[in-house]
Amino acid sequence: MADTLCGLNREEIARLLGNRKDAEWRGKQIAHHIYGRAADSYDRMNDVPQDLRAMLSETPITNLQIAKHLKSSDGVEKLLMHTGDNQVFECVLLPYKDRVSCCLSSQIGCPMGCKFCATGLGGFDRNLTPGEIVGQYLALQRLTTRRISHVVFMGMGEPMLNLQNLIKAMRLLHDEVGLSYRHLTVSTVGLVPQIRELAQEGMPIHLALSLHSPLDSVRNRLMPVNHKWRVREVVDAMRDYARITGRKVTFEYLLIKEVNDTPEQAEALSKLVKGFPNVVNLIPFNYVDTEQGFRRPERARVQAFRRILEARRVNVTERQERGHDIAAACGQLAGEHKGKFARRNKGSALPLASS
Ligand code: SAH
Ligand code: SF4
Repeated sequence: MADTLCGLNREEIARLLGNRKDAEWRGKQIAHHIYGRAADSYDRMNDVPQDLRAMLSETPITNLQIAKHLKSSDGVEKLLMHTGDNQVFECVLLPYKDRVSCCLSSQIGCPMGCKFCATGLGGFDRNLTPGEIVGQYLALQRLTTRRISHVVFMGMGEPMLNLQNLIKAMRLLHDEVGLSYRHLTVSTVGLVPQIRELAQEGMPIHLALSLHSPLDSVRNRLMPVNHKWRVREVVDAMRDYARITGRKVTFEYLLIKEVNDTPEQAEALSKLVKGFPNVVNLIPFNYVDTEQGFRRPERARVQAFRRILEARRVNVTERQERGHDIAAACGQLAGEHKGKFARRNKGSALPLASS
């Protein structure tokens, strides 16, 4: 028996129903309740026969519980989730005028150890299951009458370290919830084999690379992953991803004052991304006390960096910052309630960071 129904597709739900003649149809109907209508209780499945509901009710729909619900003055909402095992993770609802998006976590904590990231500083607990990943989307969908059409995997964790569960979750979001693959964005620090593996999946999702410097010397200092795969290698993998999937890719660029926001790096960056019909997305550093003394650049420095890129015909956007008052920004999803719920293994398994 599955742990939870959320995480199974319609065929897998049908298999749970045994030899009934109508298993296939019922599987589809129940999947529609769970994913299409975000039902979190069997009582809401009025058109499913009682005996079937009674049988299914041995398996909970979801294991996610909401530990805290925070609402920002600008409409952003954040849920702090747990699964009853003292480990917390976060997801964020991002309503815009023309669409509603959400930011989901792929792991509890993160083992990648990036030096500017609150999640990374907290260590790593575990991968989230497909049901826990999609369950965040469904929990956020229950907060709004508008349909959440876009998903970004920019919450806690490195999605590519949990690739199989991520792929299953994205298939559920596409096949069962009905989202377009083109509206799903995965952000990665740049695990080259996984980027190449994802390119072969036939899912035209949007891939964003957290680049943060065109120079190995600087990127090494910021992101331990760069010791394993250098800038050139990871940019080549992104180029291949774009070619194979037919999708544009994005480069995320976190700006840290006097570390990676220099004119030299803007020049080098524009050369590096030459030929990509892409976008560089600038993200001014959200202050995290990293013991590195990192600071956020002033507006003028961000503008100067941007102007150099634009003069070299690079498309540039800046991340809209929202949800400040509830610490909902990407990279701040650290589980501030750690003391209360979470147990973190500081400095635990770092498969790549130290290599
Ligand atoms: N692990 C993945 C996805 C989660 S992090 C990745 O690193 O890409 C999502 C984004 O938030 C990344 O681009 C990351 O570099 C950025 N980020 C991390 N810490 C930040 C901070 N303190 N300020 C602003 N952005 C940050
Ligand atoms: Fe992990 Fe991304 Fe934070 Fe790096 S930036 S520690 S990969 S969540």
